[in-house]
Amino acid sequence: MSPSYDVIVIGLGGMGSAAAHHLSARGARVLGLEKFGPVHDRGSSHGGSRVTRQSYFEDPAYVPLLLRAYELYEELERATGRDIAILSGGVMVGPPESRTVSGALRSATEWDLPHEMLDAKEIRRRFPTLHPYDDEVALFEAKAGLVRPENMVAAHLQLATRQGADLHFEEPVLRWEPYRDGVRVHTAENTYTAGQLVICPGAWAPQLLTDLGVPFTVERQVMYWFQPKGGTEPFRPENHPVYIWEDAAGVQVYGFPAIDGPDLGAKVAFFRKGRVTTPETIDRTVHEDEIRAMADHMSRCIPDLPGTFLKAATCMYSNTPDEHFVLARHPAHPESVTVACGFSGHGFKFVPVVGEILADLALTGATAHPIGLFDPARPLPRLRSSGGTPTAAAPARGARP
Ligand SMILES: Cc1cc2nc3c(=O)[nH]c(=O)nc-3n(C[C@H](O)[C@H](O)[C@H](O)COP(=O)(O)OP(=O)(O)OC[C@H]3O[C@@H](n4cnc5c(N)ncnc54)[C@H](O)[C@@H]3O)c2cc1C
Repeated sequence: MSPSYDVIVIGLGGMGSAAAHHLSARGARVLGLEKFGPVHDRGSSHGGSRVTRQSYFEDPAYVPLLLRAYELYEELERATGRDIAILSGGVMVGPPESRTVSGALRSATEWDLPHEMLDAKEIRRRFPTLHPYDDEVALFEAKAGLVRPENMVAAHLQLATRQGADLHFEEPVLRWEPYRDGVRVHTAENTYTAGQLVICPGAWAPQLLTDLGVPFTVERQVMYWFQPKGGTEPFRPENHPVYIWEDAAGVQVYGFPAIDGPDLGAKVAFFRKGRVTTPETIDRTVHEDEIRAMADHMSRCIPDLPGTFLKAATCMYSNTPDEHFVLARHPAHPESVTVACGFSGHGFKFVPVVGEILADLALTGATAHPIGLFDPARPLPRLRSSGGTPTAAAPARGARP
């Protein structure tokens, strides 16, 4: 017999856990199916911190979604008592014409977001750990900061369970198909039917969404933790902003205050610049030359940061060719399937609002949130082949599109 639900959610990582919460909060009978355990580190939603910001250099179209996401961070904190967001303030640093600075300024101006422009001298005065070149500037946003990915996923799973959702872990979906006026989903244990399917596959999008028509590239990313020279005090969130720092060659690095206590250091990572991979073949070992490259890069911008290397971890981006999300009804199954994927390394800050949008789309077929940019049928540049054939050398991803 096939157990039957209103909505099945495939994948209970960042986006899927939020969808399970918002759907069950609206009274839907929800089944969530997840390949791994709750709050795991095999996908894209782990590592203790994610930058959040509103002056969004990628495109001003993201700003209204961010304003809503910030409201939902607070709701989630109130509902679960978990730490979700730490708004330490943030700087977008680089040459004035860099995408990081000019794009952030464009969003701040178009949406009238509170911000300050700092020249190099003022950056050094306000944030003595930062060592910009004289011709670098920063957009400072007091509301930027970080969100805690594991806490947010756990909070959404906790609320979904409380609201009656059935969440099955260690139960990978083998395949799904349209069935009568809904869908049928197969796992090794069972076959389930539902009126609606929401697919949040992260880096497994190429496997679960073969007929979506979007060429995804899965990229291996590394997060590094260093114990700063002289200790973490100047790096505490009261003293230190999150930062995204673009150099003259277009290479972006981003990092965080020291949020986990005096001995656990501060995290830093390259934004993009990763190797193409697949979830099955990703190299989880972080190599000496990678650690050295990061320490060398940071010794120019934040010389006190790369004191002692503490640890590193890998994670995956699932990129679309234009690095904008895919968030829509599935064009081949518009009556019964909704997809959220291709978050291209910048999706986590949107998790709660994506959950809300997925609930809107699955339960009513439409949403009032502006998601036109995320249509899978938009014209996409064919920059790379899909499917992630691992490449031998790390291609530099610094060049801006
Ligand atoms: C190193 C790194 C740094 C990042 N930094 C930032 C940042 O600073 N700010 C920001 O906003 N974003 C950031 N991101 C991006 C952000 O974390 C991702 O966009 C987001 O986590 C994607 O969530 P997801 O739900 O799509 O994927 P995931 O959380 O990986 O969830 C997908 C889930 O689907 C499950 N699944 C897959 N196949 C199946 C199947 N067949 N059956 C059942 N379950 C299945 C997986 O197990 C997984 O749990 C970063 C990402 C990385 C890797």
